[in-house]
Amino acid sequence: MASTIGLDNTTLCANQNQPIVFKQTPLPYSYNALEPYVDAMTMEIHYSKHASAYTKNLNDAATVELAGKSVGIEDVLKNISIYSAKLRNNGGGHYNHELFWKCMRPNASPLHQGNLKDAIQSTFNSFEIFKNKLSEAAMGRFGSGWAWLYIDEKKTLQIGSTPNQDNPLMDISPIKGTPLLGLDIWEHAYYLKYQNRRAEYVNNWFNLVDWKFVEDRFLAVK
Ligand code: MN
Repeated sequence: MASTIGLDNTTLCANQNQPIVFKQTPLPYSYNALEPYVDAMTMEIHYSKHASAYTKNLNDAATVELAGKSVGIEDVLKNISIYSAKLRNNGGGHYNHELFWKCMRPNASPLHQGNLKDAIQSTFNSFEIFKNKLSEAAMGRFGSGWAWLYIDEKKTLQIGSTPNQDNPLMDISPIKGTPLLGLDIWEHAYYLKYQNRRAEYVNNWFNLVDWKFVEDRFLAVK
């Protein structure tokens, strides 16, 4: 199934003559655009070193394991149990970061009235409770990983967390669904500015969420 939810560049097909090449989408804003909540140096290192390495290593693994296949990244992740740890870690790392950059924007506005806001209120009772639950998921993850707002197979909004570069698309994940909003809680996402203060990073990060993008994903999946 083709990705219709803003990650088009990650859904590439291969044939016998053309090797799969996954590419990083250009960052849709400058490195300093998310100041003061996320600093420019963190963004530059995160995008150009960490995320770049996941994409490169995904391509290395794909050359071996996806040769001759016609498959998109989401389909790879949904069947990740049949592939190597290298493909799992770097395929997840590539997808999660491509999503993460798009989940943020400078001067993000609060969630406006509409379908997603209605769904958040009916599922979690209020936006504040939703925010607290996502923060708790982020704070409760020991070590590196991600916190997610995702939609499950019953089309219900859910909050959860995964370790390392796993995500709810993966068949090996205990939480399953389509991620709508991802929060990177690896130390590389915040340590330069926040050091051990993950809670402060998480709280500030909500000032950056591009709710329009998240709602578009919600509507596309629903
Ligand atoms: Mn990261």
